[in-house]
Amino acid sequence: MSQQETHVFQAEIQQVLDIVIHSLYTDREVFVRELVSNAADACEKLRFLQAGGAAASVHQPDVAPAIRIETNAEAGTLAIADSGVGMTRDELVQNLGTIAHSGTKAFLKALADGARSDARLIGQFGVGFYSAFMVAKRVTVLTRSHQPDATGWRWTSEGAGGYRIEPAADLPRGTQVLLELKDDAKDFAGKARIESVVQRYSNFVAFPIDVDASRVNAVQAIWARSKADVTEEEYKAFYKFLGHDNEDPLYRLHFTADAPLSIQSVLFVPKHNLETLGLTRVDSEVNLHCRKVLIEPKAKGLFPDWLRFLKGVVDCEDLPLNVSRERMQDSALLRKLNRALTSKVLRFLGEESTKDPDAYAAFHAEYGRFLREGILSDHEHRDGLAKLLRFESSTQEPGKSTSLAAYVSRMPAEQKEIYFLQAPSRDAALSSPQHEVFAARNFEVLVLKDPADEFVLDRIGEFEGKRIVAAEKAELEVPEPAAAEGQLTPEQATGLAEWLKATLADAVAEVRVSKRLAASPVIAVDSDGFMTATMRCTLKAMNRDQKDQPASSPDLEINPRHPLVSRLEGMRHKDPDLAAQAAAQILDNARMAAGLVEDPRPMIQRMNQLLERVLA
Ligand code: ADP
Ligand code: MG
Repeated sequence: MSQQETHVFQAEIQQVLDIVIHSLYTDREVFVRELVSNAADACEKLRFLQAGGAAASVHQPDVAPAIRIETNAEAGTLAIADSGVGMTRDELVQNLGTIAHSGTKAFLKALADGARSDARLIGQFGVGFYSAFMVAKRVTVLTRSHQPDATGWRWTSEGAGGYRIEPAADLPRGTQVLLELKDDAKDFAGKARIESVVQRYSNFVAFPIDVDASRVNAVQAIWARSKADVTEEEYKAFYKFLGHDNEDPLYRLHFTADAPLSIQSVLFVPKHNLETLGLTRVDSEVNLHCRKVLIEPKAKGLFPDWLRFLKGVVDCEDLPLNVSRERMQDSALLRKLNRALTSKVLRFLGEESTKDPDAYAAFHAEYGRFLREGILSDHEHRDGLAKLLRFESSTQEPGKSTSLAAYVSRMPAEQKEIYFLQAPSRDAALSSPQHEVFAARNFEVLVLKDPADEFVLDRIGEFEGKRIVAAEKAELEVPEPAAAEGQLTPEQATGLAEWLKATLADAVAEVRVSKRLAASPVIAVDSDGFMTATMRCTLKAMNRDQKDQPASSPDLEINPRHPLVSRLEGMRHKDPDLAAQAAAQILDNARMAAGLVEDPRPMIQRMNQLLERVLA
């Protein structure tokens, strides 16, 4: 035929195809879900056009959007047809020959890494259509756009080697995808097989689905039904269909609200998150409906950015149906909707955290970073988010975490503030000099393993009226320490502090006598009134430009009751040279304990010199 054109696929598509064709996937049936989901999308788009008053300008306005599936076991074929929007020639080339989705590279990487080498991921990256080639040796797409003056087209491909496009006469509005099945996939040409796959999620496809002319679904939007009428299985199936996920969700929230807006919604938290796996930045996958008509798939602005891991449906009756999508985005109505939905989700998570702490711990492990991001970026919900955070703590068993509220409830009357300490592990925190005053006073300390948490707690500032303070900045004293043998007099201690400052010079900002040490000789703390030493390290690591700058000098505090300190006082009068070497080493030990030593090599040299003198 003269009008037939041959095209090659864009390189990324070729790669996707190579992977789906040449890999043996156990869950090949996902292709049905993907093609039915595309057909449903096309029907949704048509319904949107018609709801907006475009009914007259749609080709075949009287043909309702619906999905028809036909099997032919004899021929070994399967056809999935819809009376949705259809595609023009340009749209065919654009949609089925190139990939605009940014997530595709991430998908290829995920498959190549083999980490989750899994065809079930395919729809999540916007390449669902190509799953057809897992089961089909040839795919033919017949389509006619809803546009009144459009004509029909036939698109054919055997996968590798590209596709052909040619005109096709006398097509009804919509799209038909015809699969000529591979020999090992002929079972999908059986009516019973297809029916059982389709039935699993057909009840929340909002359009009639017929398999070989018999209706398989009772169309009813799941979110519009009463909670009591929806079974656990239906929810799970709905989530899998909508979220292109084969795992059950971690959480489900189905609610209706009447004020301030009339909302019906089903929201899910996936068990795993592609962003947490480091694969890609996820986009919110919550579809916005109005009286069951899809207004905007993956709607922007429904939730704050830090809730972008949610999937589901929000149906709001108060939306003006024919409002343009652009205008929707910044309307006051959308802000109101955003606020109502967000507080609902925050409240839900709070309830779940008390109802089932173990499940909540799993949620927090997977999504804690989103909550922290919210605290840093979203002033409005900071207080609500603070309640949802969990931390390890000095008084809780290793691995168990606490909320700020539970921490406050355990505070003894004389404790006025909430304390935290950043350390690589709970053990390291408990054995650090910084923890001594807290151990001595029986004050609980939150243990932060993620350096970012310091900034998060700093941003929260206070909780239930209690200031949140870094352990290092706490103005606490060890209660009446027992007099130690040989301990320095106050005059001696001050004298030693002055000598140390003179000897260590710029390596320290200030030297003072400590009131917070019980067992350690010295402690190094940041000289900045606000930042902790570890915060400074984090900032330095993040800010590459400043990497070459010398580390700022810490304050050094000395413990006048410690034998090492009293011997140093004696030695500085006898052998000032040896005392100076020891002082430099003691400072480095303190810096090391505080996690501040970047390069240990100069220290090792000095240590060897000291050992040499000791062994002389
Ligand atoms: P996604 O659905 O995530 O966009 P797919 O690979 O499943 O990715 O489909 C690619 C595109 O092809 C769709 O976005 C849509 O524009 C178009 N398309 C696929 N199937 C149909 C259909 N039945 N009717 C109209 N357009 C379709
Ligand atoms: Mg799709």
